[in-house]
Amino acid sequence: MQHEELIPVRMVNEYVYCPRLAYLEWVQSEWAESADTVDGKFVHRRVDRASGDMPAARDMEPDESLQARSVLLSSQELGVVARFDLIEGEDGQVVPVDYKRGKRPHVARRAYDPERVQLCLQGLILREHGYVCSEGSLYFAASRERVRVAFDEELVALARASVQAVRDMAAAGVLPEPLEDSPKCPRCSLVGICLPDEVCFLRSRKDPPRPLAVAPDDALPVYVQAYRGKVAKKNDELVITTGDDGTGTRARLRDTSQLVLLGNVYLTTPCLHELLRRQIPVCWYSYGGWFLGYSCTMGHKNVELRTAQYRASFDERKCLDLARTFVRAKIHNCRTLLRRNWRGEEKPREVLIGLQEDRRRAGRARSIQELLGVEGAAAARYFAAFAGMLREDDGMGRGFDFRGRNRRPPTDPVNALLSFGYAMLVRTWSVTLACVGLDPYRGFYHQPRYGRPALALDMMESFRPLVVDSCVVRVINNGEIQPEDFLVRATGVALKDGARRKFIAAFERRLSVEITHPVFSYRVSCRRVLELQARLLGRHLLGEIPDYPDLTTR
Ligand code: SF4
Repeated sequence: MQHEELIPVRMVNEYVYCPRLAYLEWVQSEWAESADTVDGKFVHRRVDRASGDMPAARDMEPDESLQARSVLLSSQELGVVARFDLIEGEDGQVVPVDYKRGKRPHVARRAYDPERVQLCLQGLILREHGYVCSEGSLYFAASRERVRVAFDEELVALARASVQAVRDMAAAGVLPEPLEDSPKCPRCSLVGICLPDEVCFLRSRKDPPRPLAVAPDDALPVYVQAYRGKVAKKNDELVITTGDDGTGTRARLRDTSQLVLLGNVYLTTPCLHELLRRQIPVCWYSYGGWFLGYSCTMGHKNVELRTAQYRASFDERKCLDLARTFVRAKIHNCRTLLRRNWRGEEKPREVLIGLQEDRRRAGRARSIQELLGVEGAAAARYFAAFAGMLREDDGMGRGFDFRGRNRRPPTDPVNALLSFGYAMLVRTWSVTLACVGLDPYRGFYHQPRYGRPALALDMMESFRPLVVDSCVVRVINNGEIQPEDFLVRATGVALKDGARRKFIAAFERRLSVEITHPVFSYRVSCRRVLELQARLLGRHLLGEIPDYPDLTTR
């Protein structure tokens, strides 16, 4: 039988470990590095280099011995393909050897079923090519042990059934259920994408999730703001030149999550190619801080998720439900920020009560139009009180005068900071959404308009007060940014270069702050929360969880 698509035997291994893992990787093309996968690549570095001849079965002499590494073979009958780490041959028999990074498990069969099945499929491929193959070996690098696996009838039947199960699962097009409270999950490379505990919790509200078992992402954005600056690549580093005299700095590519270019910065083509190869997005801002867009590779391969997003975006009911969630969370977080940071003796009771009522009205809105009205009223109420969170005149006649929100262009320093901060947040959300496979341009509350990242604007609603407004309040109140840090022109007010640098640093510090997730109660950085929320939206759009839980602070 001829199969249209060959299944990698590694995927069958994943299926036996957890069907959901195989679906995420094989059907939805999800992939994430974990300590285990990186370590695994290290262990494979020698066997991944092709070496040694692999004679055809009919050409093998009875007494010939062979050792061939990194051999690619497939089986048309089974519809599977494998890259063999090592094939050994002696006395007319061949033996596939598969390298594993860990220690040999102490179980009766001396190896787990996923690895045994994978190895057995390699043996069946060899048999189809005419070789005599009755057993294989697993080599455990950490304990330096070699375990023999006999391809008996029971194992062959399990291997064949597993291949068929993978094919049936892909044809059904339904993401299998997450494992419940399984010890497999914390070690799974896709735990941060799959979110097994979070999905189970949001369905049943029974067991709170274990802390997100994902290693913190140490890579950070690199910002370049320099008139006639240049970014090039040398070996594994970005070489950033900022002065006419060639002075500059360097940043390691593996520590870079995004490259953010502000203004007239020249990026060399080899450097852009390397960034694209490593899937590091490049974000472009005008000198004035306007977010122009970003460059990335072909985009995420998870078509299922984007299809679900587009389908939902045409469903008025769904759009309204999500829009209410976004607006309610935003008003809630504005209210919390005011309550926590109010500098006066008495809390602004009327404003807080008003915002509470706005929040309730947002939850009852019967149309997007009505919701826009509620949001506008809440924003006016909130920004009318915003100055109450800022320090007053510092005694030397220097203070920030804020009388309400204005933009395009902002006409006072506080509005200039808010506008610049929101532009940074749009960019952060756009890249986050694209990285998890969603289309930042198709939203539910914000309507599509050319060049407007509507979903990024939707998702950032609740994060405006949480990230940007709180950052503005902080840099003003701790004196990091002063009234003289702004350029006042007839066309509006803008940050001077040095102040912009300080604000960018404060914004990134804010994203690095750990918070307690209000729904899952574990500690997680704000930066990670953005990704978590984007993935939860994906889980909701794919029908796995009934509602999208937006982030609200206590
Ligand atoms: S995290 Fe758990 S449920 Fe999810 S794919 Fe991995 S093993 Fe399966």
